[in-house]
Amino acid sequence: MEPRHVLITGAGSGIGAAIARAFWRDGARVTLVGRRPEPLQAMARELGGAAAAPCDVTDEAAVMALVEGLTPVDVLINNAGAALTAPVAATTPAQMRAMLDVNLMGPFHAIRAVLPGMQARDAGRIITIASTASLKGYAYTGAYCAAKHAVLGLTRALAHELARTAVTANAICPGFTDTDLVERSINTIMAKTGRDRAQTLAELVKHNPQRRLIDPDEVAAAALWLASDAARSINGQAWAIAGGEIMGAG
Ligand code: NAD
Repeated sequence: MEPRHVLITGAGSGIGAAIARAFWRDGARVTLVGRRPEPLQAMARELGGAAAAPCDVTDEAAVMALVEGLTPVDVLINNAGAALTAPVAATTPAQMRAMLDVNLMGPFHAIRAVLPGMQARDAGRIITIASTASLKGYAYTGAYCAAKHAVLGLTRALAHELARTAVTANAICPGFTDTDLVERSINTIMAKTGRDRAQTLAELVKHNPQRRLIDPDEVAAAALWLASDAARSINGQAWAIAGGEIMGAG
């Protein structure tokens, strides 16, 4: 059997890199998409045989052209994303649009690019790395929460449309996870509040009843399973990976 073709956005770092490693170890053919060529190429070298495809997911034409040039995508992992730490009153319209562009429009473009092929083959998995910020609000993250709620809404609507097919659409909603994205948030909070790193980290992990950051490998394991045949009845779900921070969701 041909190995599955898995396209992962934001695959050069953090959760995306962990997901790329997990699928590669599982024998999949992996296409690594992201804005920055260097980390992508480093990952491609690490995974010998993976393809690095620099592309900004907010650029619809670039995403369409990229997918058209590839062999059919069996699994789409919408992982590229970015966060902004700012009070709502201090968030500019441009910052709000930027958050919607990367966290909502990026996944939307990638879904539109792969969906016709998946529907034609009546097979496929669309997995979006959303967030606990898709399921609840956090202070000082209004634009990020809005965009992450929106992408979960898109996922749930799409799952309804796909219900009579063998294609599924699901979201994974990690809590605060040990990646550069959280590191950047910690630095912003430290600069704005004067708190030290330990205090700032403690404030973030306080949200998680287990009082720790999530390991990116935990998110990758969930993605790998959602892409498996065993998960064919899981559709339209929002899986919180957050140590019990969200209860009763999903
Ligand atoms: P990260 O910053 O390491 O990874 C994000 C990746 O997306 C980077 O490689 C970045 O270059 C890429 N990217 C950003 N904008 C892009 C664009 N326009 N086009 C293509 N690639 C782009 O952070 P991460 O924590 O690994 O984040 C991965 C995903 O997980 C994001 O969607 C994030 O919102 C989500 N998430 C993260 C956390 C967390 O606490 N770290 C929690 C919940 C959800």
